[in-house]
Amino acid sequence: MSQKPMQARRRFMMRLAAAAAAAPLLSLSMPRRARAQDLPKLTLDNAQAKALAYAEDASTVTHASFKAGSSCANCQFMQGKEGDAYRPCQLFPGHSVSAKGWCSAWAKKA
Ligand code: SF4
Repeated sequence: MSQKPMQARRRFMMRLAAAAAAAPLLSLSMPRRARAQDLPKLTLDNAQAKALAYAEDASTVTHASFKAGSSCANCQFMQGKEGDAYRPCQLFPGHSVSAKGWCSAWAKKA
């Protein structure tokens, strides 16, 4: 038997093994895209929600730092699909927040 097919097969097997070993690392390094429908809605009794004065409806907010027109929908920390009623927020990982909501960490989306 010729050496070339054996070497090619060996290289292929080595690459396959390297790819299999790297696959879990790649999945860890890739950003996880949380889907809002998979996330529980942030509740008002959540400690961080309380600390940041989160409200489900920005139109009801009387917080001193509230700016007219601000809401989760136009906040730089909002993620997910534009138009969805509830979307992930970078500040509340593992939860979805109301697009009509607001909290004191609001920052205008660039
Ligand atoms: S950080 Fe922004 S998107 Fe998140 S809850 Fe506060 S206002 Fe809404």
